[in-house]
Amino acid sequence: MPREHHPDGYRKHPRRPIGKRSATERTADFREIWAPEWSPEALQNQGERCVDCGVPTCMSGCPIGNRIPEWNDLVHRSDWKEALEQLHATNNFPEFTGYTCPAPCEDACVLAVNDDAVAIKSIERAIVDKGWEEGWIQPEPPAERTGFQVAVVGSGPAGLAAAQQLNRAGHRVTVYERDEAIGGLMTYGIPDFKFAKRRVEQRVDQLGREGIRFVVDTEVGADLPAEQVRAGHDAVCLALGAQEPRTLPVPGTDLDGVLPAMEFLPQENRRQQGQAAPGGTTAAHKNVVVLGGGSTGADCVATAHRQGAKQVVQIGINERGSTERAADNPWPEAAQVYTKTYAQEEGGAEEFAVNTQALVDLDDDGRVDELQAERVEWTYEDGRRADKTVLDPELQIPADLVLVAIGFTGPDSNPFASSGVARADDGTFATDDRLMTDAEGIFAAGDARMGASLVVWAIGEGRDAARQVDRYLTGNTELPASLQTSNPPLGR
Ligand SMILES: Cc1cc2nc3c(=O)[nH]c(=O)nc-3n(C[C@H](O)[C@H](O)[C@H](O)COP(=O)(O)OP(=O)(O)OC[C@H]3O[C@@H](n4cnc5c(N)ncnc54)[C@H](O)[C@@H]3O)c2cc1C
Ligand code: SF4
Repeated sequence: MPREHHPDGYRKHPRRPIGKRSATERTADFREIWAPEWSPEALQNQGERCVDCGVPTCMSGCPIGNRIPEWNDLVHRSDWKEALEQLHATNNFPEFTGYTCPAPCEDACVLAVNDDAVAIKSIERAIVDKGWEEGWIQPEPPAERTGFQVAVVGSGPAGLAAAQQLNRAGHRVTVYERDEAIGGLMTYGIPDFKFAKRRVEQRVDQLGREGIRFVVDTEVGADLPAEQVRAGHDAVCLALGAQEPRTLPVPGTDLDGVLPAMEFLPQENRRQQGQAAPGGTTAAHKNVVVLGGGSTGADCVATAHRQGAKQVVQIGINERGSTERAADNPWPEAAQVYTKTYAQEEGGAEEFAVNTQALVDLDDDGRVDELQAERVEWTYEDGRRADKTVLDPELQIPADLVLVAIGFTGPDSNPFASSGVARADDGTFATDDRLMTDAEGIFAAGDARMGASLVVWAIGEGRDAARQVDRYLTGNTELPASLQTSNPPLGR
């Protein structure tokens, strides 16, 4: 059915995304921060705000080219089931993105030029919420099997998207995961209060019933020889993520109480899931400093608040960005602007242009007590810090727990190095245009290939890798291409 035009819907209905629970309410528990309920009528009105502008810049703003105008219109017309079909045509796991995506599509919406963008992410979430509620999301096993066996190493969004696509093409897929549960950073990284883990479990159940085999608690290259995995499969897809933390180049990082974000956050994920949480770190009653202004840092701040921290200070090395787009960051690019994070809405202090000098143990007990830093003013060249003026050389911040969230440098291992998988200069796995590494039949996807990125990019990479593996195995493919734009993902 052709799309309806609703040129003045945005005048009739103001933008009303699905909201969040109040900061006071949500910090008292670990349940999702998002409002659990939404009204279909309200979302149908939000769908009507889409003007069907002819050149859907939102679609090129979305890395996986979600068919946004199609489902906006279908939701407006209350055809939720068809909207779900359209959504699944480009996105295996729309709830992964509908709950966690920073929504560069909304920055690229035509209305955003001089009005409020369509609430695209909320509409996406509503469609997939309804799909699960109504029981429309069911296993779709392939009609025939090809006889090819594929191993996917790593079960984050990239690995899972690759697995589902390859399985639907008829190949026998086994997913190997070193953690005790499937999901990668969706399970052991992103906090429960941003993304409830039952959402991963319901997909794992769907994938299992489609015929995908999951092998957990198995690190390829350690618990299981990589050569054995290669020998047992016709192709391998490496979706290992990029979880090697960037280190802080100052004295004192070896003190007790200083740890990378990814040693802290998974502990709380495990506690929330009733699993053993080795490490036993908690922010309760502590002065917490979070180094890093990105979304991993924000998740540390929010987790520390829920654990009962005395004080939480989040420190960014850069100047606070402007709230308006800069001239060299025009629409429809993803907006590089400062917005308060959900974590900062909940409390704590946020410091910018603070250059950490040392982490200090004042009483010689081996534990960190203080962060010493200088407050600076930076000048930038080509977007990089070039020069600084020191405004205060002796900034001291009490710190019983320092969480380092300053980024990641690439995959934390290379189990197939002896098979010929090489790394690029940035530490990621080098691939050719087919996403194949230097080793014949071994492909790479997601953060492991592109560096630490976003869920939506990981899903797109998994879909593209599946297409390339399918073509490699069969000489042809009917799996759809995915990543459509060259928009760089937002940093974190
Ligand atoms: C704290 C945090 C919060 C984030 N929040 C957001 C957000 O809100 N929105 C967003 O879009 N993105 C967010 N991201 C980024 C997003 O989670 C990642 O970009 C995405 O998960 C990458 O997917 P992936 O499948 O490539 O890798 P991962 O999700 O990292 O999964 C890789 C998997 O491979 C496994 N593995 C590694 N080596 C082996 C081996 N040798 N054998 C077996 N298994 C192995 C790992 O255990 C892991 O499960 C966040 C990241 C972090 C760290
Ligand atoms: S995946 Fe992200 S960018 Fe794409 S439509 Fe959904 S919210 Fe927008």
